Amino acid sequence: MANPDIGTIACPIEKGCVGKVRQYSKGSRKYYYACKHGMITPNLEAGQAWVAANMKPLDPEEQPKPEAKPEPEKTPKPKAKNWLSSLLEDDDE
Ligand SMILES: [Zn+2]
Repeated sequence: MANPDIGTIACPIEKGCVGKVRQYSKGSRKYYYACKHGMITPNLEAGQAWVAANMKPLDPEEQPKPEAKPEPEKTPKPKAKNWLSSLLEDDDE
């Protein structure tokens, strides 16, 4: 399964090229990016730091924005039958 995109980065190879930053889900958990030039993985720490510093994260979960809480549903209280309505209902048949 492909790893999810976590951000975008301006590819330094060509101006205007934008790569999609992902992170290996296993093992090294290194950042890499994919663009028209291919999958580019800076495999040393300095390159990893460059990706981390230059990527624009797009994961909305990273932003500490509290989600709007859904309104608690109001449970309608059962109406107590008054003596009149029960008298009327019991009249049927
Ligand atoms: Zn590129």
